[in-house]
Amino acid sequence: MDYRTGIGYDIHKLKAGILLRIGGVQIPFSKGLVGHSDGDVLLHALVDAILGGMAEGDIGTHFSDRDPKWKNANSRLFVKHACKIAERKKFAIHFVDCMIIAEEPKLSPYYKEIQRSIADLLSVPISHISVKAKTQERIGEIGKGKAIAAVALATIYQRSARLMEGLL
Ligand code: ZN
Repeated sequence: MDYRTGIGYDIHKLKAGILLRIGGVQIPFSKGLVGHSDGDVLLHALVDAILGGMAEGDIGTHFSDRDPKWKNANSRLFVKHACKIAERKKFAIHFVDCMIIAEEPKLSPYYKEIQRSIADLLSVPISHISVKAKTQERIGEIGKGKAIAAVALATIYQRSARLMEGLL
């Protein structure tokens, strides 16, 4: 088995009066994340982690933020696309560890829902998805509540890599 780890990072600005979506879950809050798509910072980090594990570039390689097709797009689409590439290349996602960096809102009440949302998207057991959050101790832009960032690590593997080599 060919095991790999991919890392992803993303950050989006917060703006009053728009919906906040993290990990595919809508979270009640006075502000939401600004982006060309729905601004789901965690799903974007996750896409980069999956693509990174396959050495397939990053989210910008596959989805241009200038393409009107992705305006206000549901970021689940990006994850589904990364999964399709993984399937084509005979990769399976084994485990994902996610960290959200946000001063507020308090995210621990939503961990389970975010875990379930990501597990469903990736078709893996919920026990293979870890979700946690940290504050920035009031330091910098994130600490002042102006942005939310996320980091994701994806452990993926390719079955019978040597056998598949000729087919990839
Ligand atoms: Zn993003």
